Amino acid sequence: MEEEKVLCPVCRTRTCRYVGNNGKINFYRCPVCGIYQAESNWNAQGNFDMNHLAAFLAHNAFDANDNFEKRYYTTESKEICDELQKEGRGRPIHIDSEIVEAWYPKSFAEKIDRILLYISNHAPHLGQTVRFSAEQLYSFLFIERYESSSGRLELRPSDALCREGNFMLACLAEQKYIQNHQGLQCDRVPAITLMPPAYARIDEIQKNTANGKNVLVAMKFGDDTKPLREAIRKGIQEAEYSAIFIDEVQHNDFITPELLKYIRDSKFVVVDLTHKNNGAYFEEGYAMGLGKPVIQLCKQGTRLHFDIAQKNTIIWASEDDISEQLRNRIVATID
Ligand SMILES: [Zn+2]
Repeated sequence: MEEEKVLCPVCRTRTCRYVGNNGKINFYRCPVCGIYQAESNWNAQGNFDMNHLAAFLAHNAFDANDNFEKRYYTTESKEICDELQKEGRGRPIHIDSEIVEAWYPKSFAEKIDRILLYISNHAPHLGQTVRFSAEQLYSFLFIERYESSSGRLELRPSDALCREGNFMLACLAEQKYIQNHQGLQCDRVPAITLMPPAYARIDEIQKNTANGKNVLVAMKFGDDTKPLREAIRKGIQEAEYSAIFIDEVQHNDFITPELLKYIRDSKFVVVDLTHKNNGAYFEEGYAMGLGKPVIQLCKQGTRLHFDIAQKNTIIWASEDDISEQLRNRIVATID
């Protein structure tokens, strides 16, 4: 297996590294999109909106340099992902166009929020000035690189992308969110510093009043609960949120700072208490302590701990009952 440098088929970064093996292994390690496995033609593979996919990968990238947990995105089915993981062949994370669309911001304000979070994640120190490559900027600023003309996907001219990139940066500067030290030009890398209003907004986003789309799901994980997991995922997606299952994003099921951060970043939390899983009780308590709404589920006949038995709970008899009830509950109580 040899690594070669290629143009990233999603974001067009030139320094993307690629490992191919007779067309069987197609790993890309892109500094913008992170690690993913794909044929060069994503569009044919999963009917992706390539502009949305580029933004999704940039905002949710698995770090291409430091990926000791070996997580990567793939369009392989969830079943294949599970098998590969069981065989100890890394941690593939299934991705499809539905997941990308559920995540994709539905409004301009939501894009701005996502952009602020992205910049702050890439500038860990307060007031730090960071530089991004043009390709990285286009991806995280939600600039559309591609347009389809007579059924074919084509790259838009780079001066148009630059102009739109500049516009987004000007919007951020106008709202005093960033200081942009020089205009965006395709061959020049702008230096960006987050300003106090941006930090105030980020604090707000991370509270439950946020526009955040992520929802942490606490439940027992295992083969026996797969139908339950998928039913919950479907209900959350149908309400236009993204479900986060901690075992899909981190290596162990312990309560870690990363898990707590996911709870803090969730607009609300969904907990299934059927298996009286200690972790799920803990995560529910933590979310309640932060003032986050919690939606409880449990299978008919489960006896709940008296502290939470009073809470409004979706009682389900079969997994088929869950998606619609959960979706309705979210729409009625969260939005
Ligand atoms: Zn890329």
